[in-house]
Amino acid sequence: MQAMRLFQHAPAETHPLQWVEMVVPAPESGQVLIRVAVCGVCHTDLHTVEGDIHPPRLPLTPGHQVVGIIAQIGEGVENLTVGTRVGVPWLYSACGKCAYCQRGEENLCESARFSGFHVDGGYAEYMCAEANYVLPLPPQMSDIQAAPLLCAGIVGYRSLRKADLQPGERLGLFGFGASAHLAIQVALFWSCEVYVFTRAPEHCRHALELGAVWAGNAQDTPPQKLDRAILFAPSGALVPLMLEKLRPGGTAAINAIHTSPIPEMPYSLLYGERTLRSVANAVYQDGVEFLHLAAQIPIQPTTTIYDLRSANEALLDMKHSRINGEAVLTVDWKGMSI
Ligand SMILES: [Zn+2]
Ligand SMILES: [Zn+2]
Repeated sequence: MQAMRLFQHAPAETHPLQWVEMVVPAPESGQVLIRVAVCGVCHTDLHTVEGDIHPPRLPLTPGHQVVGIIAQIGEGVENLTVGTRVGVPWLYSACGKCAYCQRGEENLCESARFSGFHVDGGYAEYMCAEANYVLPLPPQMSDIQAAPLLCAGIVGYRSLRKADLQPGERLGLFGFGASAHLAIQVALFWSCEVYVFTRAPEHCRHALELGAVWAGNAQDTPPQKLDRAILFAPSGALVPLMLEKLRPGGTAAINAIHTSPIPEMPYSLLYGERTLRSVANAVYQDGVEFLHLAAQIPIQPTTTIYDLRSANEALLDMKHSRINGEAVLTVDWKGMSI
């Protein structure tokens, strides 16, 4: 099989992923082998490739928004059959036994493993996944529509929940890439008023097209204070700017696996019972709930399509905010639905 593989961390500008020929992996006990149709490109992939976060081993195949068809079943798998379409999210597996797993917080499990990070992911024609962690996909959703939902969508949904967003509230989104353009659709479905802060004029336009009431720069002052805010851009410098727009008692959530340092700031920005918290990816149940909701709304992801071989270009275009919505790699043209 073919895969786009990382041998050494390097800036995306140097095209670090290499096109290689590999042996198709065999599913272990409890796993399924998936023939990949498409794979979404996430900011976390960029952090992994550039070495902002360090996977335990290289070489590695990135990719954790994988849509494909089950090609083979490992020993002991009873809940899935060959030919079924499934999605593979970031959470590849967790121990199932620790206190976090018992509380339904398996995203915090110390033994949690992540797709395209601890194990090879979906920038390849085939990948293995744990049968208990793959997600069923609504049949009315095409492969290309479903891929961005599997990380950007699910994590965006968890961020809305972790930001304590209630129907009808005023929400601020800081950064308007793949995750935010899906989260806004959920917030609007809940009758919220959405304010978008981004420095990319193209992203401002995209936000207004999708239904934001206001779009501007993070330095700008919106006409109203925000009830809730979510930071999507991996920039710690935006945290004080976000807090200064938040009403007393409001919540700000940081949806990022990595950000630049948060600058020193006056306590008055947090005082007034404001809450500042992080969001650490998502649990399996978030995926189940969100995919159901996404089909009901229905969420329309904006996508830019690249073939698997152009994964480096996709990462670079995302890095420089040159695409609206999400980049999706097409792996199997013949087996794919658009
Ligand atoms: Zn655990
Ligand atoms: Zn991701």
